[in-house]
Amino acid sequence: MRIGVDLGGTKTEAVALGPAGEELARLRVPTPDDGYDSVVRGIADLVAAIEAQAGAQAPAIGPSIGPGIGPGIGPGIGPGIGIGIPGSLSPATGRVRNANSTVLIGHALDRDLAAALGRPVRVENDANCFALAEAMAGAGQGAETVFGVILGTGVGGGIVTAGRVLAGRNLIAGEWGHNRLPALSAGEIPGPACYCGRTGCIEAWCSGPALSADHARATGETLDPPAIAARAEAGDPAAQATLDRHLDRLARALAGVVNLLDPDLIVLGGGLSNLDHLYHRLAEAMRGHVFSDVFETPIVANRLGDSAGVIGAAWLWPDEEHAGGGR
Ligand SMILES: [Zn+2]
Repeated sequence: MRIGVDLGGTKTEAVALGPAGEELARLRVPTPDDGYDSVVRGIADLVAAIEAQAGAQAPAIGPSIGPGIGPGIGPGIGPGIGIGIPGSLSPATGRVRNANSTVLIGHALDRDLAAALGRPVRVENDANCFALAEAMAGAGQGAETVFGVILGTGVGGGIVTAGRVLAGRNLIAGEWGHNRLPALSAGEIPGPACYCGRTGCIEAWCSGPALSADHARATGETLDPPAIAARAEAGDPAAQATLDRHLDRLARALAGVVNLLDPDLIVLGGGLSNLDHLYHRLAEAMRGHVFSDVFETPIVANRLGDSAGVIGAAWLWPDEEHAGGGR
């Protein structure tokens, strides 16, 4: 059995998956708002609760069930617990950085949770959990290398190859959102300011708020992305032009990822992944920017939706790995 926990700013969700990835139990609780120690205690309680629930529902032992799993033997807990967080661990300090759940910042969440749970814990950022979930149980099943794209309030990404997150030496692999938009036109210089302190980041051009801001710059009207898409659908040329500019920028940016990583599949997540035209036009728009005479990489919608974070967390410990501590 695998246990994954998705720690969000307002809710914390846990899932227990069986040996074939089937869902045995799922629980969701509010994230405590009275400090870090409560968050750690809350996760420990949630893990205990879901193990009890999943253990009670464990399937009878059959030929496909591994040793140690089934009633009477105990729930057969896997090597460790996976936790997805909206942030990452600093390789320098081992402590949480870049988290929008600010209560986590500066804490060694993996070590503190491992101590509270008495077993190894692996913490991974939510974009990597998204990519891993879609690779193992969603739209990317069967693809060797998957690039999971988050296009929402921010632009992020995660890389999974052969069923494992490629985290990187500095734990930033896949973070393409704070590269600068390439192949700039004169009107795109210097580009919008980004919260990271740079200007013209891909995120500052291609996120949902960036799409709205671009539309506002062009038209003076502030609309959210679904409203812009609806206007374009209804024949509004200004809204269509906004979507076209966004598509072109996204194509330039994502072509850079393809030139570097050349994934077998690209899966889109986040709010803008609901923009249907991306699945019909993005690949074609990228073609001229990809350094190849053929470009046939599938660009597909996610299949797991909001569940990707918790399911990805549950897959953070591959089958062949055994207890020995997180990284
Ligand atoms: Zn930036």
